[in-house]
Amino acid sequence: MESRGDMTTVRSQQVFLPGSTVGMVGGGQLGRMFAMAASTMGYDVVVFCDTPDDPAAQVAHRHVIGPLGDHDTIDRFAEQCDVISLEFENIPAETIARCSRFAPTYPAASVLATAQDRVREKTTFQSAGLPVTPFAHVSDRESLLDAAERIGWPLVLKTARSGYDGKGQHKLESADQADDVPWHECDHWVAEKFISFEKEVSVVVARSPNGETQCFPVFENEHANHILDVTTLPASLTAAVSEQAIRVATSAAEALDVIGLLCVEFFVSGDRVMINEVAPRPHNSAHLTIEACETSQFEQHVRAICNLPLGSTSMKCPAAAMANLLGDCWGDEGQTPNWDRLLEKKGVRLHLYGKRMPKPARKMGHLTVTGSDRDQVRQLALSARESL
Ligand code: AMP
Repeated sequence: MESRGDMTTVRSQQVFLPGSTVGMVGGGQLGRMFAMAASTMGYDVVVFCDTPDDPAAQVAHRHVIGPLGDHDTIDRFAEQCDVISLEFENIPAETIARCSRFAPTYPAASVLATAQDRVREKTTFQSAGLPVTPFAHVSDRESLLDAAERIGWPLVLKTARSGYDGKGQHKLESADQADDVPWHECDHWVAEKFISFEKEVSVVVARSPNGETQCFPVFENEHANHILDVTTLPASLTAAVSEQAIRVATSAAEALDVIGLLCVEFFVSGDRVMINEVAPRPHNSAHLTIEACETSQFEQHVRAICNLPLGSTSMKCPAAAMANLLGDCWGDEGQTPNWDRLLEKKGVRLHLYGKRMPKPARKMGHLTVTGSDRDQVRQLALSARESL
């Protein structure tokens, strides 16, 4: 890099060795586990987030606190960093563009702008010839009815921007339900064909500035109330379907020109995979890589943005399962769960994110079980969580 703050310089091929300072925009659990992995590898980590008590700020070397859109705060953060990444995609793309004036910032603002908009995201993948759920852009009741002519009922109507974990989604069975949609709240929707999938799976692909890519094995995901509940590795898929998912995920990372990590979530029907959505960051479904793979997704993220050789994603054990711990585990009165009962179970690993306030549906932590059989580890993960 010629100079920090240079408005045009991008050090795209520079390697950032341990000892460098990595910046993380966002203070949640993904930033926390990234900071822990980066620290282990000898990096200094600066987190940019809302409060010093945020999960990532608790474990980082330094933090910069302030609104993610504030120019002075962005500059104060970015000028300390050699390379910058982020842990959630709904950060203003302008914040990331401004960070990149100071240091290479991955993924780029253009990737975020695409990942923040379901219509743009699906159009990008469709243009690249990748399989996506049949969809149409919808702005009002009339365009919904037009869309339904093409894609058919039932369909899922989703706000095109800022929806996650099922928020802003409506399953519509027929034209009769078109009046139930809160049209006044939004004029930018995507209508998707409702897919009666057999499974949901995801692939996390890492891509570094030199173009090297590496995928983790396919994760099989079960959702409850639209939120990821349990992930099992390996997924119970044929080799051909797994290979297809890995091939499509790699092409998706290339089509978006992502540097860092990209999680691609798929619906599986028969021998076909279809992209549901993507996230250009570490992903909940890959948390079990901390215990189950030679390289965790968080270490891989550090390697990718620092332009280091990507690590092996081979499994260290035949099977692993992850169960999320939501605020619901704390009960109505916020009672502390029975951690001792969980921790006495052999092979169960507990991860808590340091969030002080348990709330229903809030991701507070997760547990991972490794072993020799996928059904057994999944069962043990469920029973360990039940014991809380
Ligand atoms: P999303 O926020 O798009 O990942 O959706 C959350 C969850 O809703 C998914 O993981 C699926 O379980 C379900 N879902 C979303 N879109 C569809 C669809 N087109 N067909 C069937 N189920 C869907």
